[in-house]
Parts: sequence; C-alpha cells; structure tokens
Amino acid sequence: MKMRNIKYIVLHHSATDYQANAEDTTGKQIAKTICDRAQEQWKKEFPAYICDYHFIIGHTGEVFKAQLIEQPSWHCTNYQANLVSIGICFLGNFENIEMQIEQFNTGVQLIKTLMKQYNIPLTNILRHRDVVSDITHTTNSTECPGKNFPYIHLLDALRDGEPFFDIGEDYKCINEVKFLKQLGIIKGDGKGYFKPKEYITREEVMLIAYRIIKLLQN
Ligand SMILES: [Zn+2]
Repeated sequence: MKMRNIKYIVLHHSATDYQANAEDTTGKQIAKTICDRAQEQWKKEFPAYICDYHFIIGHTGEVFKAQLIEQPSWHCTNYQANLVSIGICFLGNFENIEMQIEQFNTGVQLIKTLMKQYNIPLTNILRHRDVVSDITHTTNSTECPGKNFPYIHLLDALRDGEPFFDIGEDYKCINEVKFLKQLGIIKGDGKGYFKPKEYITREEVMLIAYRIIKLLQN
C-alpha cells in the first residue's frame, strides 16, 4: 500500500468513562467498541476501514493499533487535514479527569517515534480543537481533547529540553531562559512560544515579580 504524505498528528480524547467494566483496566474493551462503531459506520463505503483513529492509548499506557497508518481516518472534522494526519486517541474524558503518568509517557514515546519516522515538526502536533472545522470554519469547534489534556506538558516533553519552540541553543539568552523557566518564573505565551522580541504587558511584569518574590519567601 502506498504511503500517504503525513504532515500532522492530531490528539483526541475518547470522552468515555474510565473503563467499560471492572475487568477492563487497560481500556481494551473501550478501544474495541470505538473501532467496532467506526467499522459499522463506514462498512459500505470503506470495507477495510478499521477505526477513526490510528492509535488508541489506554489508561495504563497500553497502545492499541487501530486504523493502518497508510489509510486516512475521519478523526477531525476537516477533510484535507484527515488526509495528511495521524489521529491518536487518549482514552478517558479529560474534561473531567487528569491524565495518569503511564498514559502520558506512552503518548510522548509514540508521538516522538512518529515525528521521527514521518518527519513531523513539533508545531504540527495539534489538538483536535486546534483544527479548523469544515462545518464551522473555525478552530475550537470541539472541546476535544478536553480542558485537562496536558498539551503544554506534552509539548515540553517532546521538545527534549528545549524550553520554547521559537528559540534554540543559538539564542543568546538560552541559559537564562532555561533557568527561569525551570523555576517557573517565565512561562512563555502558554502555547509553547517565548516570543523574545514582543512587548511585555504590565500584567506579565506583575506576575513575574510575584513569582520571584514568592520564590524568595519560601
Ligand atoms: Zn477529537
């Protein structure tokens, strides 16, 4: 089967309960139900269709392979994006719960591997809600993958020690930035960018001063 041109990874949550039943500790049953439903929906048009996601990551960090990577899947409501992306679904409803470390770590490893394999830049790791919907023509047309989804932490882990997207080891203040970020004094723009040439607001100055003083008081 010919490989697709893959440019993006799109992250989802399943918005399902923690487990289907008492025996389903890994989420395997829920993963199967998700695949079964998709197959039922698409069986006429695409008899070989497996799932709306290429990978499903269970609560305990188990990876369930779903749709073949060579095949697009209909995971985000954007036809063009579906053709050139890999969909990863984290089991759970991250509107309500926090992600456990095992599931998080597996996600990081899987995404790292895929980024390397398909040469996908970090800026193309998106949440479902970041994708422009074909229906509403805007982003944020869904809550997926939920407000507690640890997107910034995930990007931090994928960046392998680089503090922000837009500055690298060649940036003249990289050591100062790393130092202050580690202490939690600077946090960037909340989307993983430092924006070194942009103006700072009164509010940001106040927050930075507050964090420094707090730190000194401890
Ligand atoms: Zn989604």
